[in-house]
Amino acid sequence: MAPRSRRRRHKKSPSSVAPVVETPPTAVAPVPLILSKPGPSIDSLGFFSLENNVPGLSQLILQKLNMKSYEEYKLVLDGGTPVSGFGYRCLEEMFQKMEDTFRFCAYCKALPSGLSDSKVLRHCKRCRNVYYCGPECQRSDWPAHRKVCQELCLVAVDRLMEWLLVTGDFVLPSGPWSWLTEVVQGWDTWFSMRCLQLDDTLDAVLDSQAMTTLWASVRRPRPDPHVLKGSLKRLLTDVLSRPLTLGFGLRALGINVGKVGGSTVHVVGASHAETFLTRPGDYDELGYMFPGHLGLHVIMVGVDVAAGFSQSTSASLLEPGTVQLSGHRGLYHDFWEEQIETGQMAHPDLVVAFHPGFHASPDLMEAWLPTLLLLRDYEIPTMITVYSHQELAASLQILVDLDTHITAYGANPFASLKPEQVYSNPNKQPVYCSAYYIMFLGSSCQLDKRQLEEKVNDRV
Ligand SMILES: [Zn+2]
Ligand SMILES: [Zn+2]
Repeated sequence: MAPRSRRRRHKKSPSSVAPVVETPPTAVAPVPLILSKPGPSIDSLGFFSLENNVPGLSQLILQKLNMKSYEEYKLVLDGGTPVSGFGYRCLEEMFQKMEDTFRFCAYCKALPSGLSDSKVLRHCKRCRNVYYCGPECQRSDWPAHRKVCQELCLVAVDRLMEWLLVTGDFVLPSGPWSWLTEVVQGWDTWFSMRCLQLDDTLDAVLDSQAMTTLWASVRRPRPDPHVLKGSLKRLLTDVLSRPLTLGFGLRALGINVGKVGGSTVHVVGASHAETFLTRPGDYDELGYMFPGHLGLHVIMVGVDVAAGFSQSTSASLLEPGTVQLSGHRGLYHDFWEEQIETGQMAHPDLVVAFHPGFHASPDLMEAWLPTLLLLRDYEIPTMITVYSHQELAASLQILVDLDTHITAYGANPFASLKPEQVYSNPNKQPVYCSAYYIMFLGSSCQLDKRQLEEKVNDRV
């Protein structure tokens, strides 16, 4: 499983850690750090791999967070108290420090500490998301940056607006679906169904004191209402992408959620990204997708499941119509041996891995292998998600080599619509969480590799 290898990776010296190419680190988790979820996970990125693109960056981040080491950073994420005293006196300072972690020249990679006194880093006027040490670097970088500047403009707004999710000032619309569930096949129909309720919600957030405070605390003018609404909608898709992707998987794999005693979904390789700020009601939307279901139990399993995330100890019976969320901190195959093989818990009806990343390095592959083989051999309906088309192709290849029976793959209708910047390499094309999915069931794939490649290239 990924977690084991991730743990190892953190112990290595920075130079020995290979960069995980595709994983986008909003990871800069510095963001509201203590309060916020750290995005697609600094864990899967390997904190020190930041160094490969911008030498000194990991130290800069730690310094801005008033921390001495990655271990201390991890301690804070796990709910501990850092030795060096973490905290900010005011919102303004927090946003400033957060912004400072983005301050390095996107072209020559210079950090503020490496500049002569006469030079300062200035941001790109259009996107406000990348910095340059001078006009020469900005000019030289433009051919690469122009391809992403517009999209990064959204990133720069979203990472501030995310604060409203953290503080709880942006509450997502909820409640039973007013349309037939078969009609709602993706975000378009979901937004149409929720539009009235959503308009009220967004207007309320726009008028809120929290919104005023936010833009008064950051050093940039408040964007127009339509820009802010666009951002809130993207953030909403980012939060609801996970529960609705689980629902999409249950539907696509034809899993019966009318089972007496309830159905179980395991999220394997779960980390802070899935558990840190997840509140009990966050998966209610999954329940609304299946009116009349007899109980849904979602269990997050992984060594990086946030401390304090509710632990599942027994197979309590679910109330019909309820969604129960719990976590198990540990490796999946240990969890399987302790809980499933002993009969304490039922076999899962679906197993999902969000961005397992096993295509990215032999280390990660080695770690995931026991889990993938276990899921294949027990014929557990399984779905994985990936960030990009390139990752989709690489992951399919691996699953074919493992002789899994791939039942479906393609673009996820409930992918997050919030662009994720590759933090230490901002000119890389932003990616989207769970943009693509692959489903497999048991072994023996019907397609050979070449057919598969052709199909992938045709489809996306
Ligand atoms: Zn420069
Ligand atoms: Zn720009």
